[in-house]
Amino acid sequence: MQKKFFKFQPSYIKNYWKTEATPTNNNEHETSVDQLRKASVSRKESGTHVDTVVTTIDGQRYDTKELDHDPDFSETAEWAFPIFQISRKYPKTILSRLTYNIFQQSELFRIFKVSPIKFFNFFHALEKGYWEIPYHNRIHAADVLHGCYYLSVHPVRPQFGVVKSPDSLLPAPLPQAASIMSQMSTLELMALFTAAAMHDYDHPGRTNAFLVTVEDKKAILYNDRSVLENHHAAESWKLLNKSENHFIENLDPAEMKRFRYLVLEYILATDLKQHFEIIMTFNDRLADMDLQVESDRLLVGKLLIKMADINSPTKPYGLHRQWTDRICEEFYEQGDDERRRNLAITPYMDRGDAQVAKLQDSFIAHVVSPLAQAMHESGLLPILPGLETSELMINMQHNHRKWKEEIEIETANYEPTCNGGSVNGVIEEESASTSDSPDPRRDSPSLDSELSQ
Ligand code: AMP
Ligand code: ZN
Repeated sequence: MQKKFFKFQPSYIKNYWKTEATPTNNNEHETSVDQLRKASVSRKESGTHVDTVVTTIDGQRYDTKELDHDPDFSETAEWAFPIFQISRKYPKTILSRLTYNIFQQSELFRIFKVSPIKFFNFFHALEKGYWEIPYHNRIHAADVLHGCYYLSVHPVRPQFGVVKSPDSLLPAPLPQAASIMSQMSTLELMALFTAAAMHDYDHPGRTNAFLVTVEDKKAILYNDRSVLENHHAAESWKLLNKSENHFIENLDPAEMKRFRYLVLEYILATDLKQHFEIIMTFNDRLADMDLQVESDRLLVGKLLIKMADINSPTKPYGLHRQWTDRICEEFYEQGDDERRRNLAITPYMDRGDAQVAKLQDSFIAHVVSPLAQAMHESGLLPILPGLETSELMINMQHNHRKWKEEIEIETANYEPTCNGGSVNGVIEEESASTSDSPDPRRDSPSLDSELSQ
């Protein structure tokens, strides 16, 4: 199968599927009864596909012709993609619809001969496995997928690996603009998009630290290490392996093996415990970075999914605000649970002592900004025509300023309390790395709870 590197801008929507409309059987020796039985079994096991309509095994109907021209998805390449508006229209199917749209635009159906029935069976089962909770739901999965698409589809000018002769007084030439998509293999791209859709599957709305503390059975199973990320990866992979969901069936064994490796690497990279290690590895590698090298492309793919996972402060304020309200509500629900269990309430999770602006200030300063900055400085963030810099950076700086102003107003209005919520912050609980982690965390609140695990 020849499917190496993209040399195109994604084309807008074609229909590749009509030929598969009716199950056929070329085996002359089978009786018509056998054929009928087979067809009905396969229908029962796999859903149906008639002309442009696909009905999944659980009865969810998708009209691909409609999907191909759905105006709701016409802004997929925009950073301000109105995800909440679209999710109100498709509350149960936002993830499968967006994945379809992105696979189509990236020509992955055609390149990998993806069966539409298996595709929809899988992605619909996947989205059903996301809980109806405030933040870690299927809208977040769709948002991360969208982030990966945006970051990979627009041209960027990577600054790494530029060797400047020590004799030369001339500035290094401006690197060529090309999308990351055009420099990844199509298999890597399909793995990245699939991993984004899978990356928080069956998230229970509690943090790793909480699951470890209460000795949840997932924590026991994964020995307290990347508990949630291991769970998301393992359980969604099991779902993918079901024959009716196995949309990657046409990959050859070597591709299949690599696809699995990449999906697992991408999902496990979303554990914030590895945050600074990944940024540091990238910074250390910068001078020699070469996108012809597989391991360098993997590292860049990890940055993309990580940036997409914590993208909210880099979105226009309205979107950022909604995501903030959602993560805070999910944190408060954990705080309520901790109170019921007579556990210490994790900082920022006490709804009676909400410190939203401080949480956001800290999250942006210590978690989002180091990653966004590393990507920006290495030219990995798209700068769209008419803009002087990346819209992610513009939004992040604007949002950060707003939170800081809010803190100033709060501080001016109230007498400071004893610790100002700066002990054992939830961010640090989630993002604490190994003891030899670099400095960025120095300035942030204590990491005690995570480090003492
Ligand atoms: P994930 O659980 O894969 O979505 O990893 C991202 C983590 O980043 C979340 O679990 C939150 O702990 C944290 N996070 C994301 N957005 C925010 C935010 N706006 N404020 C505070 N923490 C956040
Ligand atoms: Zn996530």
